[in-house]
Amino acid sequence: MESAVEAVLDAIGDDDPFTGATPEDLADKFDDPVVPEEGVGLDVAIDEVAERVLANSVDPSHPRCAAHLQCPPMIPGLAAEAMLSATNQSLDSFDQAPSATVLEQQVIDALGHLFDLPAAADGVFTSGGTQSNFQALLLARDRYCDRQFGRDVQQAGLPRKAKSLRVVCSEAAHFTAKQAAHYLGLGENAVVTVETDDGHRMDLDALDETLSALERQGREPFAIVGTAGTTDFGSIDPLPELAERAAERDVWFHVDAAYGGALALSDEHGARLAGIERADSVAVDFHKLFYQPISCGALLLRDGDEFRWMARNAAYLNPEAHDETDVPNLVAKSVQTTRRFDALKPYLAFRALGRNRLGALVESTLDLADDAASLLDEADDFQLVNDPALNAVVFRYRPCKGLDDEAISELNAAVRETLVYDGRAVVARTDVEDVTSLKLTLLNPTATLDDVAETLDTIRECGSAVETAQYEVSA
Ligand SMILES: *Cc1c(COP(=O)(O)O)cnc(C)c1O
Repeated sequence: MESAVEAVLDAIGDDDPFTGATPEDLADKFDDPVVPEEGVGLDVAIDEVAERVLANSVDPSHPRCAAHLQCPPMIPGLAAEAMLSATNQSLDSFDQAPSATVLEQQVIDALGHLFDLPAAADGVFTSGGTQSNFQALLLARDRYCDRQFGRDVQQAGLPRKAKSLRVVCSEAAHFTAKQAAHYLGLGENAVVTVETDDGHRMDLDALDETLSALERQGREPFAIVGTAGTTDFGSIDPLPELAERAAERDVWFHVDAAYGGALALSDEHGARLAGIERADSVAVDFHKLFYQPISCGALLLRDGDEFRWMARNAAYLNPEAHDETDVPNLVAKSVQTTRRFDALKPYLAFRALGRNRLGALVESTLDLADDAASLLDEADDFQLVNDPALNAVVFRYRPCKGLDDEAISELNAAVRETLVYDGRAVVARTDVEDVTSLKLTLLNPTATLDDVAETLDTIRECGSAVETAQYEVSA
């Protein structure tokens, strides 16, 4: 194991964030049989992977890799990953993971505390926001069906009136709200999206209108989803007001804090999550702004009793729990069975760095995003699209003022395409009001404004190349 790990460490390089290899280039590299009759031996296999796979990976630890919510993983998290993989504990029963079971519960309790949830709070680690959002809406649906229709969905399936069930979220909410509605047998049309304001936050007047309209139409909203950190803009919905609307109507209040949850680490920004403590459920991802390797997320519930909507006991897994002893039975809180000890990653990071240092990392990236926004705003050839709420900065390359939206879209799409196969910077693309835009998600605390400036220069170069190519085509 020692020599294998050493070989792996040697193979992790630090050149440009990406080689620019195309899908065809990569397919050509992997032409050896995946399942040979006789193996090549571990040393050779690792060398092959280093040369073909690792060398052509994007490097999220590179300061000019700033596209998605793909974080540079911190070393405590990598050390924890080695420990949890090597010991291979499985959280579905105490006898497969005794200390891990107890520690996950303690990490969950600490997270409840971090988000100011009451003592009755509970939670479970998940693969990430997708799973957390799904599970939250599952519990919300089943509680509502029990209360409203006296229906036990776990046993009897959806009631006939399920067609009228609705989930309310903002138009900037993550697509997994709709995906969850599909998986829950409600269909994506069950998700009603509310307009956002100038800051990409759910608009409260629009929310009130939506809720009244649903009432008039005899629809049954069973959950309001607030987002703390939208993926494109980092915007945070007005959580206290959403909590109020949910409480008035006795519907479930879920906060998707997959991205913004890490603000809770910061004294400076923590108050921006006010209202989250009133959520029935919170999704938080550690593989984003908590800098842990993928995958690592959690679902927290304000009232741990709400896990009863999915409880089950498998006789072979937890015989002790079956006998109602005090042995923890985490499988009853998860949509997974065999489950990784991902809780070790944030645990080691919390212990090693403490809240203050972790909070400072987050703060530094928010500061960098503000500086990057100023830089873009001052540049004649760029157009800043958002005032960053967290560390996502959306902008467009606009070398001359005369371009209309269509031309800007075309140019930015072409620039981003060129950029992908350039490899000197990794930048995301998104649409804002149907205009193609570029996005930096500045998660890396070691990145500086010089790195951002260098990325912008690379975009300019790609832009010139695109313009020259277009000129040649039209000439
Ligand atoms: C990333 C993200 C998700 C999806 O989470 P995964 O960890 O990718 O499954 C959901 N909601 C928001 C707001 C996100 O940023």
